[in-house]
Amino acid sequence: MAISERVIDQIRSSSGIEYVIQEYVPDLKKAGKNWKCCCPFHNEKTPSFVVSPEKGIFRCFGCGAAGDVFKFVMLIENIPWIEAVRKLAQKSGITIQESKEDKVALSEKARLFEILESAAKFYHRCFIETSAAKTARDYAQSRGLSDATIEKFSIGYAPNGKLLESALKKGYSYEELAKAGLAVKTDSGRFFEYMSDRLVFPILDIQGRVIAFGGRTLTNSKTKYLNTPETPVYSKSANLYGLFQTLQDLKKDKRIILLEGYMDVVMTQQYGVSGAVASLGTSFTAQQAKLIARYGESEIIVLFDSDDAGRSATYRALEIFADNDIPVKTASMPEGVDPDEYLLEHGRQAFDNLLKAKSKTAIDFMIERIAGGNDIKIPSAKAKAASVLLDFIIKNKNAIIQRDYIKEVSQRLNLEEEILWQELKKRKIFKTERITKQDLLIKNTDGKDDVSIEDKMIRFLLQPESRNFVDKIEEGFLTSERCIKIHGFLSGKKDITAAEILSKLESPEAQWFSKLAIEADSGSGDLEEIFGVLYKDIEIEKIENRRKELEKEILLMSEGKVAGNAEKIKEYKLLTSKIKGSGKKK
Ligand SMILES: [Zn+2]
Repeated sequence: MAISERVIDQIRSSSGIEYVIQEYVPDLKKAGKNWKCCCPFHNEKTPSFVVSPEKGIFRCFGCGAAGDVFKFVMLIENIPWIEAVRKLAQKSGITIQESKEDKVALSEKARLFEILESAAKFYHRCFIETSAAKTARDYAQSRGLSDATIEKFSIGYAPNGKLLESALKKGYSYEELAKAGLAVKTDSGRFFEYMSDRLVFPILDIQGRVIAFGGRTLTNSKTKYLNTPETPVYSKSANLYGLFQTLQDLKKDKRIILLEGYMDVVMTQQYGVSGAVASLGTSFTAQQAKLIARYGESEIIVLFDSDDAGRSATYRALEIFADNDIPVKTASMPEGVDPDEYLLEHGRQAFDNLLKAKSKTAIDFMIERIAGGNDIKIPSAKAKAASVLLDFIIKNKNAIIQRDYIKEVSQRLNLEEEILWQELKKRKIFKTERITKQDLLIKNTDGKDDVSIEDKMIRFLLQPESRNFVDKIEEGFLTSERCIKIHGFLSGKKDITAAEILSKLESPEAQWFSKLAIEADSGSGDLEEIFGVLYKDIEIEKIENRRKELEKEILLMSEGKVAGNAEKIKEYKLLTSKIKGSGKKK
């Protein structure tokens, strides 16, 4: 935060938001004054993502994502603001002077990356060179890992107690090692290595930096797989194992296969299958689903183990994908066979054939899972199965997907489509009611028709040629809090850009403001006149509101419920005549 505003402005204005975004979303095309594409932050078929180079902001009219160029880079790269600033500064060749604090925060992260990188090298060297790693090497061989794969994934071996020793010698402290997730401090204050006697898989972020480790036991420990904990550089839910290693060849098959384990990913990629990734640890998250959607260009396949645990995990993953409106398929291996075992035994061709022959749509999987075991001739069982399936169908907002799914369920459960549609409709009503209550705030700020008169004034003032009018609005004239806030920014700095203001706001204010800013267009009319009309409208609205208040009170007075108040009656009459004079009837 200590980088000066002037430098921030300079980076922002020299970054060319449309070109920055285009690097991530090649489909971004010019459409009149603005640029448009399908939103990279939610799944959609028709573009509602608008970029205004002139104003330096982006806004999605589907999901409400909005901001300046820094915000975009933050969201798409999942990095903090300061890193986005540095990244864009570097791109535009601007040097930034950072305060000490920022430097410390940054160098702390840089230090963690350094420690993790050095640990990965240490583990890998142990795997290759030490005699203690024989079990690890034997295990890798038995699973069919080639030397090239071991290199590509930097697979390593964590010996008992040796990492700390070597890291301390290199000058890292216990505290730093603990912060990187490599050591744990016990209650008695002693430090232990997190991984010991395990086959180690370094986990990389999308930029190829080591951020954590997964380790498989070599001593039949009860914990078969162990991951290092979350740290300032590692968030489980925002990364995928194997993604970085397959980035280069993603274009080949244009598909992502979501697998369950590290070994599955490593082996699948070893056999030349592109796009093989795995979630980290047990749970699959919405953030990971979105990450996958960004890279799975034409197809996403969920391929988990064919046991009960695997099927439950598939079920949960499909729900998460559906919640985020991402269409996926599932496939399954023969019972009890892991993908890596299958590849080892039958080879790549058979694996591909199996994927083709055995892949199902999400709804197929759901039907089998829900109705598979039940005797769906019994009406109550049928109704129950239909109900669960409709719960799943309604998660998919895409109308075409819904239609296909309804058709499928109708055939398989032998139920009329009409009935299913009726039930779905009932749920929709219920669902919207629920959503309206929950998202009231966002709905209000995002609705199409609720641009208030004060909003219109702000929209007018945002035009660069209208800035002279900012000072004509006295303090206390505006009543809406968010409008007062924006007016404050405008009067504080006459040439402030929409992007700058937006960067100071959080949602839902940011959503509301970005919409106004995108819409603010230099019209053809006479500025003086437009301002006059808006100003008057706000005045009248205020008078009307006050008059309505008084009206209620006077009504109570006339009913004898409260004492009469001559002052108020006088004020009421005055306001009424003012409104009449303005040409507006009550
Ligand atoms: Zn969106």
